Amino acid sequence: MALKNYEFWFVVGSQFLYGPEVLETVAARAEEMVEKMNASGNLPCKLVYKVTAKTNKEITDVVREANYAENCAGIITWCHTFSPSKMWINGFANLQKPYLHFATQYNREIPNDEIDMDFMNLNQAAHGDREHGFIAARLRMPRKVIAGYWQDEDVQARIGSWMRAAVGVAFSKTLKVMRFGDNMREVAVTEGDKVEVQTKLGWQVNTWPVGKLVETMNEVTETEVDAKMAEYTSLYEMATDDVETVRYQAREEIAMKKMLDAEGCMAFANTFQDLYGMKQLPGLASQHLMAQGYGYGGEGDWKVSAMTAIMKAMSEGQTGGTAFMEDYTYHLEKGNEYSLGAHMLEVCPSVAAGKAKIEVHPLGIGDREPPARLVFEGKAGSAIVVSLIDMGGRLRLICQDIECVKPIMDMPNLPVARVMWRAMPDLTTGVECWITAGGAHHTVLSYDVTAEQMKDWATMMDIEFVHITKDTTAEGLEQQLFLNDLAWKLK
Ligand code: MN
Repeated sequence: MALKNYEFWFVVGSQFLYGPEVLETVAARAEEMVEKMNASGNLPCKLVYKVTAKTNKEITDVVREANYAENCAGIITWCHTFSPSKMWINGFANLQKPYLHFATQYNREIPNDEIDMDFMNLNQAAHGDREHGFIAARLRMPRKVIAGYWQDEDVQARIGSWMRAAVGVAFSKTLKVMRFGDNMREVAVTEGDKVEVQTKLGWQVNTWPVGKLVETMNEVTETEVDAKMAEYTSLYEMATDDVETVRYQAREEIAMKKMLDAEGCMAFANTFQDLYGMKQLPGLASQHLMAQGYGYGGEGDWKVSAMTAIMKAMSEGQTGGTAFMEDYTYHLEKGNEYSLGAHMLEVCPSVAAGKAKIEVHPLGIGDREPPARLVFEGKAGSAIVVSLIDMGGRLRLICQDIECVKPIMDMPNLPVARVMWRAMPDLTTGVECWITAGGAHHTVLSYDVTAEQMKDWATMMDIEFVHITKDTTAEGLEQQLFLNDLAWKLK
């Protein structure tokens, strides 16, 4: 489902104590707030006013409805007045959708002349939201709390940002991942418990034989390849005369897309160790699929593939770009340290600074023909890198803040896409923290998705979250990981 088709339900808490007039005013204002917030353009999804809830049954009913509504990606609550929270327990106990508590109030300012006890009875969010907050804390509910004035752009933007994370939850719960072959032999970090991942995150991760892909490739017609070639030349610069090699990538892409779409898969993984019957490792083919929103993981890394797809779904319509990435090599010049990220071939062109070039070069690894690939430089800007690892018994999501730069050298003989960045807090401390936390060599790099969104997503998914920022120290992180380990054993 596309991002714009999801909606969030606005549920306002109250009670009968204040009489019908107050309740009518609350309902009318809730509708007005929803209308104005939708019109602001700051929310990526529609907000729908559902009910001013006064009873246990009204809350239980709206929660039941939200749980079953496929297009409802979460509920947002607020208490204009006081809403005794025991009436929320039965509903909240059954809530299966993301939940945001929006602590706001209808009026921005205290009206000096007008304020009297009628005003006080109607405008009680300051203590109504505290009663509401207590019960969610007591129930240990995963939730997001956002406080601020509802007409402020920055407040609306934060709600919008959380909505995107919640859509990532909805997307995750129905995500199917197609594995062409197994993981690269002997590699540990790309392994994982698929049953645990399906239970926790919803992912259906299954395998399809490479032979089936080769069969599908053989069925692709020249006309289909012609159309794909026209697409390539409209988007990218053809920097090779070896048209046949590029056409072979087109054939691979068409076949993979057919298989993915037939199974409803939005992510896939393959490995250069199992290309049985294929002439080239898919390079351009995988890159162009990623540009269309599919997740990809190299060397059979289905976890990074799924995370790429989820983060692309969360950032749909944004323009910064999200890509499968790998830390490749360092520049360790004192005071000018950088990481160089790349892959054998498969970096998504959504992160390219300019028009990507289609080139053909031999591959140092594997025993296939030189594959066509997109070569480009990544853009400058703030970004994050994210890695999901299986700790055995639980999943850990690691996120590091990075600052991407225009690569400080042009590397004319490097035949792959490249991105250069400065990891936080600095390269060596950042590397120490990443390695201490067990982060993989594969990551998802995103200029669009924020660390706060990934934290929100991890909270909603009930998995561990580790964030390496400009303020992180190796000692502090070690301490946090030690405590997390204890806490997650008890959970
Ligand atoms: Mn790799």
